[in-house]
Amino acid sequence: MRVLVTGGAGFLGSHLCDRLIEQGQDVICLDNYFTGSKKNVEHLASNPRFELIRHDVTEPILLEVDRIYNLACPASPVHYQYNPVKTIKTSILGAVNMLGLAKRVRARILQASTSEVYGDPSVHPQVEEYWGNVNPIGIRSCYDEGKRVAETLFMDYHRQNKVDIRIVRIFNTYGPRMHPNDGRVVSNFIVQALQGKDITVYGDGQQTRSFCFVSDLVEAILRTMEQNEYTLPINIGNPGEFTILELAEKIIKLTSSKSKIIKEPLPADDPKQRKPDISKAKKFLNWEPSVNLEEGLKKTIEYFLSSPYGFDSV
Ligand code: NAD
Ligand code: UDP
Repeated sequence: MRVLVTGGAGFLGSHLCDRLIEQGQDVICLDNYFTGSKKNVEHLASNPRFELIRHDVTEPILLEVDRIYNLACPASPVHYQYNPVKTIKTSILGAVNMLGLAKRVRARILQASTSEVYGDPSVHPQVEEYWGNVNPIGIRSCYDEGKRVAETLFMDYHRQNKVDIRIVRIFNTYGPRMHPNDGRVVSNFIVQALQGKDITVYGDGQQTRSFCFVSDLVEAILRTMEQNEYTLPINIGNPGEFTILELAEKIIKLTSSKSKIIKEPLPADDPKQRKPDISKAKKFLNWEPSVNLEEGLKKTIEYFLSSPYGFDSV
């Protein structure tokens, strides 16, 4: 199959490209390198089944493909708030352009949506039927509302134009190839711990997140694309729920770091709790995560210690 991965040079996209190449697919990786890097896919460059295109999804493109994984969009709050207008354009125009392409070449298309569509949730754990609690005018809105509109576009192209869609709502995912300056909590804490710097916990650290290791996530995305039973959004994440303080303590222990935990102000609209209900993923994908937090953190710490791109460039 000919497969297009937008955002393919990013953290999740590059792991997805690896798996698709392993499966023997022809892969086109499309990226504008805003937060991704050629380095994430350079090991694939010599493979004749792999092609890299510099392109911005806010512009249309015509490619003959059978599958489209639409991952292009900065995912870290620090990155998506850097140019919020560009972020929302990437989600919305990117979805329009990729759905238009899917419609034209009759490709199946999967959208990388997010747990952020639930905002600061009042239903816990989050089920797909929950409509969410999102501030439409806050500093996270460019990302959250952009992703919500993208879901709307996917559903409307499906109902109106019979485009063959899949939607995954991804919960916090971590692992090797996260950028050391990414700004997300796992990479921040690991880099701080390895450098002996203070660990910056925002707020009182009692807010919770559920962390999924990247290999589990990629497996679920591939399964979602290739199953034929369910086209509505599916939560993908690890239901293990941890406070941010617990995460900090775990990382200090695993790195044997002397770093101290310090408290910094909580950013606006920071969700207080987050944990996926993954019944649908279990039922329709026969999937559940297999890597627990401690195991996944060890692998991620190894990456930051061993990768010149990862740790030394901080
Ligand atoms: P990332 O920032 O590492 O990757 C995003 C990629 O998209 C980068 O390579 C970037 O250069 C590219 N990109 C950004 N804007 C683009 C544009 N306009 N045109 C072309 N390429 C563009 O982030 P990630 O963690 O790999 O996230 C990938 C996708 O998964 C995103 O859509 C994100 O919203 C979604 N997601 C990720 C998580 C997570 O925890 N990692 C959680 C929920 C959703
Ligand atoms: N966070 C933190 N210190 C950091 C980075 C993040 O305490 O150095 C907190 C952040 O406020 C949030 C949680 O960790 O409560 C997860 O943040 P992240 O940016 O990784 O993802 P998101 O908020 O989008 O889930």
